[in-house]
Amino acid sequence: MKVIDIIKADKPALSFEVFPPKTSDAFESVKHATEEIAKLNPSYMSVTFGAGGSNAGFAVEVAGNLQKNYGVTTVGHLTCVGADRATITDRLNQMQAHGIENILALRGDRPKDWPEDRPLCVDFEHACDLVRYIKAHGDFCVGGACYPEGHPEADTQKQDIANLKLKVDAGCEFLTTQMFFDNNILYNFIYKLREAGITVPIVAGIMPVTNPKSISRICALSGSLLPKRFIQIVDRFGDNPEAMKQAGIAYATDQIIDLYANGINAIHVYSMNKPDVAAAIQKNISEIIK
Ligand code: FAD
Repeated sequence: MKVIDIIKADKPALSFEVFPPKTSDAFESVKHATEEIAKLNPSYMSVTFGAGGSNAGFAVEVAGNLQKNYGVTTVGHLTCVGADRATITDRLNQMQAHGIENILALRGDRPKDWPEDRPLCVDFEHACDLVRYIKAHGDFCVGGACYPEGHPEADTQKQDIANLKLKVDAGCEFLTTQMFFDNNILYNFIYKLREAGITVPIVAGIMPVTNPKSISRICALSGSLLPKRFIQIVDRFGDNPEAMKQAGIAYATDQIIDLYANGINAIHVYSMNKPDVAAAIQKNISEIIK
């Protein structure tokens, strides 16, 4: 099934993101965690992809398993840094062979171990180039990423939104946001997108923060601001893992309910391979998404 049909349907959508293992040792435990999340029967699931393609095989296997054995519509992420046309074509063929019809097309970031003298951009400089190529290659529903607080490399938000328009014009059918912790940032962003002529559906990406140690790393990577209300929760409960988990889930739930109430129809939870967190959020909004 095409994800765009789920996102556009007249029913609130709740999806979960998982990541594949980096090594074969971790394959079974990661597969098990993703299967537990699939058993919740979410609207769809997405499977991330390591920039540079280090875990390409695992990613397609995990996504294919969820789709084939659990009947969950799956979105396979695909990054293009360091990849030439032949590599991308090969990956698209693998996805097709596993029945994956939906792709989140991403540029990706420079992998940590990437040699200085190896070119980072080969045939695809930006995600829009990848979107165009995927659309020409096969019958995929293609989405892309967007950044309510601006992409860290963009000089201005205006320029970032102009670049986003190029991605949509290339064939991107929906946009999933980077995490944000203040819904007003998203509402403001969507207003600017519509003003810029970007009319595709926006899927709100929500990260339930259950481990305070991960917060500074997450914010450094994403550039997301933490509101004072959230910082106070971390200050008060950060030393108590169970209390922090409960508070993090409650905070994410609160954000999600407000988003649905304000007309955002599709929420994507960065569930980080944690079935208990995914289940708790789904339970908290069970009547809302019925
Ligand atoms: P682009 O859309 O190419 O944008 C990157 C930068 O280039 C921006 O500053 C943009 O303004 C600028 N730009 C874009 N197009 C043009 C143009 N035509 N001309 C000039 N400038 C341009 N990373 C992974 O490695 N694996 C994943 O699975 C993954 N999943 C993600 C899922 C989501 C929902 C999000 C929000 C991010 C994800 N990322 C993932 C991270 C992402 O790869 C990085 O944020 C990366 O830095 C940008 O990727 P992009 O696809 O947004 O790039």
